[in-house]
Amino acid sequence: MRIAGIAGALLMGGLNIASSQVITSNSDEPTVYAYCQQFQRLYTQIREQTVVPDSARMQFSTIMKGLQSRFQSAESFRVDSLQRDSLRQTKDYFWFPVRGYSTSAIGGTHGEGYRGKGFDLFDYTVRGSHPAQDIFVVDRNQNNLDDRTSQPVDILSMSSGLVVSIETGWKPGSDYRGGNWVWVYDPNLHGLFYYAHNSAVHVVTGQWVQAGQKIAEMGRTGFNAYKTRSPTHLHLMYLQIQPDGLPQPLNSYQWLITARTSN
Ligand SMILES: [Zn+2]
Repeated sequence: MRIAGIAGALLMGGLNIASSQVITSNSDEPTVYAYCQQFQRLYTQIREQTVVPDSARMQFSTIMKGLQSRFQSAESFRVDSLQRDSLRQTKDYFWFPVRGYSTSAIGGTHGEGYRGKGFDLFDYTVRGSHPAQDIFVVDRNQNNLDDRTSQPVDILSMSSGLVVSIETGWKPGSDYRGGNWVWVYDPNLHGLFYYAHNSAVHVVTGQWVQAGQKIAEMGRTGFNAYKTRSPTHLHLMYLQIQPDGLPQPLNSYQWLITARTSN
């Protein structure tokens, strides 16, 4: 079932990666696109619990270190940790990920919906944490359309990056919590954005996206997000990759409240 998606992505992946300087492949290292495929495969295995957490952790670390080294071999992506810190504080770096909405759409008061403690990306049985911000829209009849415009709500990439994995096959009844999601790797920050519960995904694995570019449309996909008690929202998570290649959730609230917005 996933074959068609991958084949499509294969065709587009090589062409679409705008920063072609990244993929000068004069070594035996896997290409950027190969790392994306590995990421997609691994994340699916984690979700299906067909890989043990320790093995998943090792594979993940290898993929992230590989991606980092591929990008760092390109001049424009050589960012040290000092530059990274200043980028994160640059006002114009991030776009608010929900078109037509801004700070007031973030769940909870002052972003209190974020609970990073106890999160383990590699163990799907661990629950209770919510290392993310939920961003809500006005959709009282839960038809995935903005009640104010009767249009779908665009999900925008918060920063420029590489689409490392997508899911488009979620169906009601599936117990996958993320529904149809997009993972974007930002090589400047060396971190991953995760956009979940989309109704439609508008990018493919291996594609380069610009900050503020539409990547999906908001939806209600995902085991809990589909339920009537859940208001329509985007689940936004950011994982900072550590020197050991492993992810650490980071609260994106400060980025969101200073992000550029679009109508
Ligand atoms: Zn959430």
